[in-house]
Amino acid sequence: IERDSIFRKKHGIHISGTNIPSPLQSFHELRSRYACKLYLLRNLLQRGFKDPTPIQRQAIPMLLSGRECFACAPTGSGKTLAFLCPILMMIKAGGKDCIQAIILCPTRELAAQTTRECKKLSKGKKFHVKLMTKELTRCGDFKKMPCDILISTPLRIEYAVKKRKLDLSSVKYLVLDESDKLFELGFVKQIDSIVKACSNPSIVRSLFSATMPDTVEELARSIMHDAVRIVVGNKNS
Ligand code: ADP
Ligand code: MG
Repeated sequence: IERDSIFRKKHGIHISGTNIPSPLQSFHELRSRYACKLYLLRNLLQRGFKDPTPIQRQAIPMLLSGRECFACAPTGSGKTLAFLCPILMMIKAGGKDCIQAIILCPTRELAAQTTRECKKLSKGKKFHVKLMTKELTRCGDFKKMPCDILISTPLRIEYAVKKRKLDLSSVKYLVLDESDKLFELGFVKQIDSIVKACSNPSIVRSLFSATMPDTVEELARSIMHDAVRIVVGNKNS
């Protein structure tokens, strides 16, 4: 525990909460500690990622141990991988019980970019990774389509749920990426209804952002259970 806190300090990782898993020393630890499959380690290497970034060191073990968290780290610090990695490790490829993970993004561009990253990281495994396009929103029926991970803006998901083309009751991971922007852009109502539709009691929710204004932190606390806060650097810079 003493060692963990020295290690966190060295990497500028600040945490608040109890029972926090040790930060990752290396990506290899994903295998020794969490039995990570080789395809993922291979893909990380192929992407040129040698060592986890500070936010990845703490957020990955957190989500792997089933803890809800809100994670705040500067732009460009590798937050995408911090949530994609544990999701890919925890869900089943080609799972039958439909959608296992939802990633909410404030813009369509970010959703598309996150989808590309997810596909690169899942190379070699038969995950069904889907971007919620305009087409899919309008005429896709997710009850008849294999989909393990769905990446979207809140409006499109809310619409498909309302039209009863999308059932979120099997979702195990809900990620709000750039949550500061999501709230800023006024998606609070949509997020609320998506959170309610994700009715699986063992769901693990997480928020990622570059800044963590108090309003966002309050909202985060209201939708998550016993969430841990992870901050890398200064939370409002
Ligand atoms: P953020 O969401 O925090 O702004 P991104 O997830 O978009 O940051 O990552 C920023 C860049 O860093 C991307 O080009 C990504 O490929 C790269 N990156 C992510 N993780 C690592 C890592 N562990 N080592 C080196 N580069 C990384
Ligand atoms: Mg990001």
